[in-house]
Amino acid sequence: MPSVPPVAGLHHIGIAVTSLDEALPRWTGFGLVLQSIEEVPTEQVRVAVLLAGTTRIELLEPTGPDSPIAQFLGKRGPGIHHLAFGVGDCQVQMDALAAAGAPLLGSAPRPGAHDCKVAFVHPRHLLGVLAELVEDPHATDHNP
Ligand code: ZN
Repeated sequence: MPSVPPVAGLHHIGIAVTSLDEALPRWTGFGLVLQSIEEVPTEQVRVAVLLAGTTRIELLEPTGPDSPIAQFLGKRGPGIHHLAFGVGDCQVQMDALAAAGAPLLGSAPRPGAHDCKVAFVHPRHLLGVLAELVEDPHATDHNP
């Protein structure tokens, strides 16, 4: 069985919010810097990227009732939704994890925010934590 390549680092923390208009002033008022707001139609979310130094926080607002974020908010309410890890090659990481028995959501990477390729691992694998894999074309040694 091929071993799973090491992840490059924590890419971002995803936080589900009901409304960016409500959440953004809280976070910027807390001292984080708003970098961008982008809509990801494939996931039915609007994503606000905030920076805490080099650490990235993504606020996720659903744009429709079928959005995974809308479903999460309905079940759990607002709060931490997932941890995203930078990987060198999303498909390679997915294949290695699948071979190791990890339950992946989908079999191929999907387009994410800011030109990234992303994939998700079912939260039962990490005992309640939804993990995202991010292949970021803008990644540096400093920022996975
Ligand atoms: Zn994410």
